[in-house]
Amino acid sequence: MNNPDFSTINRRSAQSYIEHKHLIKNLLAGRTVPCRHCGQPLQAQLPVAGSENAGYIRCAKGCTDIELEASLPLR
Ligand SMILES: [Zn+2]
Repeated sequence: MNNPDFSTINRRSAQSYIEHKHLIKNLLAGRTVPCRHCGQPLQAQLPVAGSENAGYIRCAKGCTDIELEASLPLR
């Protein structure tokens, strides 16, 4: 068995998942988090319960554009 591609992909997506969780945590805590690409502050829109609008994390330039799942565990 030789599947280095899978392990690379899995490791990468796990890492970005952790980064996203970290971003969300900081933004929810009211901290300003700069975009890692352009340095502009990121803006977070949380998913609204009962609404079809998904939440997102974006920067002004759009190089960071992360869609949040509505199932995000909010209090
Ligand atoms: Zn950016």
